[in-house]
Amino acid sequence: AVSDAIPHKGEETLRSPICCVMGHVDTGKTKLLDYIRGTHVQEGEARGITQQIGATFFPVENIRDRTKELKADARLNVPGLLVIDTPGHESFTNLRSHGSGLCDIAVLVVNIMHGLEPQTIESLNLLRKRNTEFIVALNKIDRLYGWKTQPNAPIRKALKQQSKDVQNEFDRRLIEVITQLKEQGLNTELYYKNKDMGETFNIVPTSAISGEGIPDLLLLLIQWSQKTMVEKLTFRNVVQCTVLEVKVTKGHGTTIDVVLVNGVLHEGDQIVFCSLQGPIVTTIRALLTPHPMQELRVKGTYLHHKAIKAAQGIKITGQGLEHAIAGTSLYVVRRDDDLEEVKESAMQDMKSVTSRIDRS
Ligand code: GDP
Repeated sequence: AVSDAIPHKGEETLRSPICCVMGHVDTGKTKLLDYIRGTHVQEGEARGITQQIGATFFPVENIRDRTKELKADARLNVPGLLVIDTPGHESFTNLRSHGSGLCDIAVLVVNIMHGLEPQTIESLNLLRKRNTEFIVALNKIDRLYGWKTQPNAPIRKALKQQSKDVQNEFDRRLIEVITQLKEQGLNTELYYKNKDMGETFNIVPTSAISGEGIPDLLLLLIQWSQKTMVEKLTFRNVVQCTVLEVKVTKGHGTTIDVVLVNGVLHEGDQIVFCSLQGPIVTTIRALLTPHPMQELRVKGTYLHHKAIKAAQGIKITGQGLEHAIAGTSLYVVRRDDDLEEVKESAMQDMKSVTSRIDRS
């Protein structure tokens, strides 16, 4: 019900942080997402399914369960984590929500065997330009020669089980990456040795194949977000919503996949977005989400909602959605709003779209 969706006075409610995965090609971004979802998107892509943008919501219970071994005593007080699946998607650069980055926190994936690569540096610069928090996932640790697999183990436990040679090799490569990042002007440290969180960015070693370090990564994403972004993550009843993708969905016509960053959307809401033909005013016919732990792009039945509270990835059906443009914002017209003003706000987004077209 709508009343449930709106926090009562004095009741502090945080929304889920929104997380993106970035980094150089082949560092394991897709595999990492696959592993934490427990699905096999990458194999699907290999079979020729087109690369699309999706989002996966991880309820906090799921994360708590998977990080039990880490015995985190701190409270997890966000509802979960919304992970945007954008590997290799350049349009991420343009995915913004009301002038700020769409993502609250990012995972910058670095291949421990390769160190920094050109797109690592590009991603890094983008994150710094946006002032986006991020965690470095030092991936493919299972590729270290002689690595003993410890499926889904916390990283410290996994490292303790390794031979001296493997530990030395790990240390050597870690220091190399820390040095390379330092050359980019960035201080980093293994997260459990980091005494200066905030100034010094965290590194979490991971394997997207056997899952070592994944519990650490999930827990740190949640803890770091709720520690450093309380204000940003405080739920507000103001709709902040970004279009990820415009596409035909069987049985629903042209739909839009959106990320609701803040606020509540309702079935029947009047919405406005920009298009090349000017502002489009339409109504939300249906609010759909996939079942938990599935991705928006996974085919199948959808759950219908009367109202949805941020942060969530949602599929919206309605008329005129074919005119929507990925990367722009969706506005909701409330009873007291002036439609013309909302239309004007929506068309402000066209400027960023036009400059994007000019640049390409
Ligand atoms: P992306 O381009 O960054 O999305 O990289 P992918 O997720 O497609 O991974 C590229 C290749 O590296 C694939 O063959 C993966 O199976 C492999 N890979 C990814 N992560 C790991 C890892 O942690 N360990 C090992 N051994 N291979 C990995």
